[in-house]
Amino acid sequence: MKDDKSFVKQIVRYIGISLILLLVFNAVIMPMIGNTRIVETNYSFFLSQIDEGKVTKVKISGDEIKFEVKEESGATQVYSTGKMDDPELVDRLYKSGEIDFTQDTEENSILLEFLVGWVLPLVFFIVLWNFIMKGMSKRMGGGMSNAMSFGKSNAKIYVKAQTGKTFSDVAGQDEAKEALVEIVDFLHNPEKYAEIGADLPKGALLVGPPGTGKTLLAQAVAGEANVPFFSISGSEFVEMFVGMGAAKVRDLFSQANEKAPCIVFIDEIDTIGKKRDGNISGNDEREQTLNQLLTEMDGFDGKKGVVILAATNRPESLDPALLRPGRFDRRIPAELPDLAGREAILKVHAAKVKMDSDIDYNAIARATAGASGAELANIINEAALRAVRDGRKTVAQSDLEESVEVVIAGYQRKNAVISQKEKEIIAYHEIGHALVAAMQKDSAPVHKITIIPRTSGALGYTMQVDEGEKFLLTKEEALARIAVLTGGRSAEELVFNSCTSGASNDIEQATKLARAMVTRYGMSGEFDMIALETVTNQYLGGDTSLACSPETATKIDTEVNSIVRKAHEKASAILSENYGKLHELAHFLLEKETITGEEFMSILKSETTATVAE
Ligand code: ADP
Ligand code: MG
Ligand code: ZN
Repeated sequence: MKDDKSFVKQIVRYIGISLILLLVFNAVIMPMIGNTRIVETNYSFFLSQIDEGKVTKVKISGDEIKFEVKEESGATQVYSTGKMDDPELVDRLYKSGEIDFTQDTEENSILLEFLVGWVLPLVFFIVLWNFIMKGMSKRMGGGMSNAMSFGKSNAKIYVKAQTGKTFSDVAGQDEAKEALVEIVDFLHNPEKYAEIGADLPKGALLVGPPGTGKTLLAQAVAGEANVPFFSISGSEFVEMFVGMGAAKVRDLFSQANEKAPCIVFIDEIDTIGKKRDGNISGNDEREQTLNQLLTEMDGFDGKKGVVILAATNRPESLDPALLRPGRFDRRIPAELPDLAGREAILKVHAAKVKMDSDIDYNAIARATAGASGAELANIINEAALRAVRDGRKTVAQSDLEESVEVVIAGYQRKNAVISQKEKEIIAYHEIGHALVAAMQKDSAPVHKITIIPRTSGALGYTMQVDEGEKFLLTKEEALARIAVLTGGRSAEELVFNSCTSGASNDIEQATKLARAMVTRYGMSGEFDMIALETVTNQYLGGDTSLACSPETATKIDTEVNSIVRKAHEKASAILSENYGKLHELAHFLLEKETITGEEFMSILKSETTATVAE
């Protein structure tokens, strides 16, 4: 209904503009053209011209006579004169023999005049307007055509009746599922809740890092509830003109109200839900859209069965007004999956692929600490692709292991040419990491060492895999990890008396961890439990900003440096103590290019070879 009204308004505005333009056209331009072409004259001139035989054409209409005169120069000139009661005129015209004369019927001439003076320009302006708008929308991309439709957005874009996803497609995320089950129940029988008088949350906000299944969860809710699912991305509200986004929000909600019970899902809501700031040059359009969203969320009847889900990975940037009770009062976290969650996600996706019967999902899950659901899904797919490449019918464990590395470090660069000398340095570097890890009790066991370069730029790497799931990081573990990171460089220094740029990634990670220890974990001797840095976006990279004086910042740097230095010294000490093993293992790695954790440990533990190697 609202659509029709705005459409009528639109047409009225349209015609109004055209009429004004037309008036200007008729009042200013037409007379100018007319004056130059038609000269008014008197009747006697008309008669005299006929007598002189200069008139070639006569047109009699209403109370006016227009006639064409052939001038001496050869050009023709049109004159007009008033009509007189002159019964002999026809006779006179006929007698002259050469004059082409007609009488216009009255209606005809008025109609023509109207057509030429008003309708034609009107049509012309409409065509011109459309043409300009089309050109603009082409240049501005798709969004413009929506903007140009004056607030009338296409109803169909939201409706995506059934998603075909259910909760069984979502693995792990049990807490999130539990919270959503209640919403599904509400959509199935809202009366049950209405009877008691309970208001169900109008909105639930799914928050979490990218790829943890937020969009998937929302689709599963729609699938389970078996109701229409209106899905729109926050960016679709962003329009060229102020007011368009707000109109879209209105549209969306009026449609949802008609289709209730239903689910409205706004993905990436941070695009429109950002905090409003006092900025004068602020984005008016975005602000209006947000205001409209707030109003609509207050306005609709929560008992009717419209549930609004939204997803974001930047909850801290959302406007507080959005988060207050009555709007998105529920926050459903979708965190990175834990060990059991990862295993479950791997299994869900493996079910769609032909796998060997003896796959150890737990091993893969352990090797992928910190991976999101999307990455795990990708690992399964990469493994399947690898199996096809090798001409096999099913996916093997080795495919999975390789694809873990592909997702972590990129593809193998099989034809990368690396000199023997550099290969040697890389081998010592990696064994340096591994040895330091193995010789400290707070380090995770070494799982695999390789010096095959990867497309990510890594020239080799040492994979450590914890036995179980760790949720806390002790100070000892943190220090041990930094020591392991410095182990690569330590080995280079010890063996080659020099260092390379190969440690840049290690340096970055070690610094980050040491810094976090000082500024956020309270693990330094210098500061007490003081937050010196705050995390600004928890789910996207975890950037931090300093919250201390410049003097303190200087102290932080000193402290970080001393932590890393101590770890580096410790790593060097460990490697000097095991110098023989370092050589032995490095040569073994050089020869094999990839060795497993077991191979590594058996060489490390064998007493006899140790003496031989040196
Ligand atoms: P986001 O949280 O960024 O919205 P998506 O929901 O789009 O993430 O997830 C992307 C893909 O990752 C999904 O289509 C699905 O294949 C996979 N995925 C993510 N989380 C899970 C999960 N918990 N269970 C199963 N698959 C998942
Ligand atoms: Mg998403
Ligand atoms: Zn390294």
